[in-house]
Amino acid sequence: MSIDQQISEYYDKLLKRNAGEPEFHQALFEVLDSLKIVLNKDPHYADYGLVERLCEPERQLIFRVPWTDDQGNIHVNRGFRVQFNSALGPYKGGLRFHPSVNLGIIKFLGFEQIFKNSLTGLPIGGGKGGSDFDPKGKSDAEVMRFCQSFMTELHRHIGEYRDVPAGDIGVGGREIGYLFGQFRRLENKHESGVLTGKGLTWGGSLVRTEATGYGLVYLTSEMMKTHGESFEGAKVIVSGSGNVAIYAAEKVQQLGGTVVAMSDSAGYVTTPNGVDIELIKDIKEVRRERISAYAAEAGEGVEYHAGGNIWEVAADVALPCATQNELDVDSAKVLAANGVRYVAEGANMPCTADAVHYFLGSDVNFAPGKAANAGGVATSALEMQQNASRDSWSFDYTDQRLHEIMSNIFKNIDKTAKEYDMAGDYVAGANIAGFKKVADAMLAQGVI
Ligand code: NDP
Repeated sequence: MSIDQQISEYYDKLLKRNAGEPEFHQALFEVLDSLKIVLNKDPHYADYGLVERLCEPERQLIFRVPWTDDQGNIHVNRGFRVQFNSALGPYKGGLRFHPSVNLGIIKFLGFEQIFKNSLTGLPIGGGKGGSDFDPKGKSDAEVMRFCQSFMTELHRHIGEYRDVPAGDIGVGGREIGYLFGQFRRLENKHESGVLTGKGLTWGGSLVRTEATGYGLVYLTSEMMKTHGESFEGAKVIVSGSGNVAIYAAEKVQQLGGTVVAMSDSAGYVTTPNGVDIELIKDIKEVRRERISAYAAEAGEGVEYHAGGNIWEVAADVALPCATQNELDVDSAKVLAANGVRYVAEGANMPCTADAVHYFLGSDVNFAPGKAANAGGVATSALEMQQNASRDSWSFDYTDQRLHEIMSNIFKNIDKTAKEYDMAGDYVAGANIAGFKKVADAMLAQGVI
């Protein structure tokens, strides 16, 4: 049987075994498609059931999370942790609290995380978790009680050498604090290496808050450099206005670019003269309000568009930083027609499969999230290093490490794409480079 037939057969089996999980199917398809090229060149990577083992999580946990609201009503949410692959190091990946969370979404994120973590060059495996709990509109006390209940089950399954969760959508510094507090109480130890994204006075790392957004911009700069371009004078769309989006916007503007639009799930703002970073931080991080408040307060030239499509704004660079499948093929075509030459994914899988396919066949240079948003987890691994050595590094030193890691990731995916005769296809470059490192470790460690 040819390699292509073998991969098609794996994929069909995976669809049946993971029925009703479209996001996981999408992530599997993209990676398996890139692996055809690798397996044709190096067939030994198909030995010992390697591909089947890679696509099956090592462990999947689903648990009940009961909690009490401020009025005394009981609610029940569902908690998840998918420990996907620990060949390179302890499972590492964020927790997402959002009503859309289900097992398929956590599996897609955990699967992507394996390759992303491999690309960082640091010793971390892949995992992901979360809950269908919606922190929006909840009081601090309600969020605290939810986090405590969530950790009451999760604490048995995590640890510095086992599994190290962090934040993601809906899980920021506040939630990590409540989760860490409950872990410490249940385990009766201050194991700082058990979670990352901690507060600076209790084991956190400088730059972790900024890391995913800054890292995205560092990697995009490297991609632009190969075409003799830079962010200086560039117009940039940044979708979302959460952790990744805010710090991507900050770094773009530090490098001389102008952020011309940002969004949330209700609408977007156009900001032809750039975004007031301090104001957006205040609205989103401190007051936890909507992006519409930004338009109301930012003054002249700023417009709010309820609903609508942020990808219709004219720009040179687009950085989708909100959520999966937020940019479809029609929007991809609009971006290209409006002159966008660079798209880099700050969110996980924000571009649909058709949109990615379109970019790869066009003049638009495209960097996939696995590579482009790896700065967050890379800095989490730097936080783990600081925790292990009871040290804390300066902002500049940590930022410099992040910058080096992102430059190396770009060089690695660029070189790998060229090695496989697919110059400029950073999707293939990232999938293949990420896969080979994990695959070599899995082959060396036997059939487990
Ligand atoms: P946040 O919760 O801080 O922010 C998410 C942002 O996306 C909010 O502005 C939210 O708006 C917006 N959003 C959510 N759903 C939609 C939608 N359907 N349409 C438009 N906007 C939407 O999350 P993060 O910034 O941490 O994460 C964003 C993405 O980046 C996710 O895909 C995450 O997995 C990925 N990522 C995050 C990392 C990190 O370090 N934080 C690391 C690597 C990847 P609203 O408030 O209206 O919901």
